[in-house]
Amino acid sequence: MSPSQPKRTINSVVAQHLCLSCGTCVSICPQQAITMTESPGGLLLAEIDESSCNECGLCYRVCPGDHLTEGSLRAGEDPFVGPVIAAYCGQASDSRILQSGQSGGIATALLSYLMDMGQIDRAIVTRMPQDGLLRPQSIVATTPSELLSTQGSKYCPVALNSILRYISKVQISRTAIVGLACHFHGLRNMPQNRADGFIKIGLICERVMTFCAMDFLILKSDKPRHDVVSIRYKDKSLGGWPGDVGILDTSGNIIRVKQSIRHWCKGRFTPPRCYLCFDKMNVLADI
Ligand SMILES: Cc1cc2nc3c(=O)[nH]c(=O)nc-3n(C[C@H](O)[C@H](O)[C@H](O)COP(=O)(O)OP(=O)(O)OC[C@H]3O[C@@H](n4cnc5c(N)ncnc54)[C@H](O)[C@@H]3O)c2cc1C
Ligand code: SF4
Ligand code: SF4
Ligand code: SF4
Repeated sequence: MSPSQPKRTINSVVAQHLCLSCGTCVSICPQQAITMTESPGGLLLAEIDESSCNECGLCYRVCPGDHLTEGSLRAGEDPFVGPVIAAYCGQASDSRILQSGQSGGIATALLSYLMDMGQIDRAIVTRMPQDGLLRPQSIVATTPSELLSTQGSKYCPVALNSILRYISKVQISRTAIVGLACHFHGLRNMPQNRADGFIKIGLICERVMTFCAMDFLILKSDKPRHDVVSIRYKDKSLGGWPGDVGILDTSGNIIRVKQSIRHWCKGRFTPPRCYLCFDKMNVLADI
């Protein structure tokens, strides 16, 4: 194909329901022509502003929606498990991190340790702001105390990789990133000098749920939507591990929604692309 010919864009991926909301295309687009847009069904999908697009094709090249860079999965390795050097079981020894953690707080404890030891300057993490918008926000945290506000799993679409455009090449080697398998597939598809060197802390992931699941959980709390400022999918302050859903209202009250209702939502609000995902164990993560 000659350079002047228009190249394939992510439009074909989105049209085939293969967009997994990773945000990688947003960060690579030289024209800043791509935004993440919510569909009526609560999906988060990439959308091109055609008037700004120069059809360079970079967005499609990095998109993990329908391909993964050749050689990412090595022959002889189990593609569903990936290379395993050692396996350990543990939890955070800091009680604050343990209490606010989704599981044992290990993800945050590791980041905190790396910061304390001067091995990283920043971490790309995701928090649920208490602003009533109920949409997760990926941030670059630079202090251990900032990390605390990002604990807990957000079982909804997160366009984590869109933030990569703010990380310069020289910063990469001193940056950790916490992500799902599809985020790291997008990272692997990026040009090497924009992707290699991050410390990748991977989360196991069976699926996310659409934003409509959040609306449903709020409905079950009997709180009007405008009275809700935030949500925790598993709130350990409500009856221990693993925790019921906690809906935070404008008066600071936490309303409990039983975890059985969250489980019920899984089968009803799963984005189609998650059903095609082979990588539940996050094989490209470092840990
Ligand atoms: C969508 C999703 C599905 C999951 N499914 C499973 C599963 O089926 N089985 C299983 O064993 N574990 C699953 N996990 C992992 C589990 O919920 C915990 O995240 C993990 O055990 C780490 O817990 P922790 O206490 O160490 O993390 P914490 O110390 O609580 O830190 C959580 C970290 O996760 C990051 N994070 C939260 N939500 C997201 C998100 N949506 N995208 C990217 N980063 C995020 C935060 O930035 C934070 O750094 C899932 C996680 C997510 C986000
Ligand atoms: S790069 Fe990610 S967000 Fe963009 S179209 Fe592909 S899957 Fe969707
Ligand atoms: S083809 Fe190029 S300019 Fe157009 S949206 Fe994709 S990356 Fe951006
Ligand atoms: S199941 Fe796969 S595609 Fe779906 S959110 Fe998890 S890692 Fe991404």
